[in-house]
Amino acid sequence: MNRHIAIYPGSFDPFTNGHLDIVQRGLEIFEKVIVAVACNSEKNSLFSVKERMKLISELVTDNPRVQVDAFDGLLVDYVVKKEARVILRGLRAVTDFEFEFQLAQMNHAVCEQVETLFMMTSPSCAYLSSSMIKEVSKLKGDVSQFVPPCVHQALQKKFARD
Ligand code: ADP
Repeated sequence: MNRHIAIYPGSFDPFTNGHLDIVQRGLEIFEKVIVAVACNSEKNSLFSVKERMKLISELVTDNPRVQVDAFDGLLVDYVVKKEARVILRGLRAVTDFEFEFQLAQMNHAVCEQVETLFMMTSPSCAYLSSSMIKEVSKLKGDVSQFVPPCVHQALQKKFARD
């Protein structure tokens, strides 16, 4: 069991500056961060899991301490498979708390050695969510300040035909 690895799971549909902020800050604490795209979030998603992984990989390609992966099934099973014990999650508003609290409790109940660590959002990312980004992008709003350039381009391409 490796204490130096953190698994950062999520839908990342798409990856935002808020997600990037958590990865960067996670790297200050952990030796390695594995960004794990949830395959069960494929339904109703804008980007396929493969597209999401490619975009995230582009952003972290220079950093050997970040790995991009996808997982299917129970998150705790994936964490154990990776020989990790920490799940890293971000918290924005109070509204995130209830769901995250339940999730962390459930994961710990299912697999006792797995702990969830939360990082508070940076103030500049507090109102940032993938769903908001998709909504604004769809309506042709400028989201360039909220997402990395490659994600911005990918969003523009997705909605170009609408
Ligand atoms: P999920 O569907 O698992 O919530 P998301 O891609 O929405 O997937 O989020 C993945 C993780 O990143 C979650 O822990 C979420 O709280 C966190 N997160 C998302 N946006 C931000 C942000 N702006 N600041 C900090 N954490 C964030």
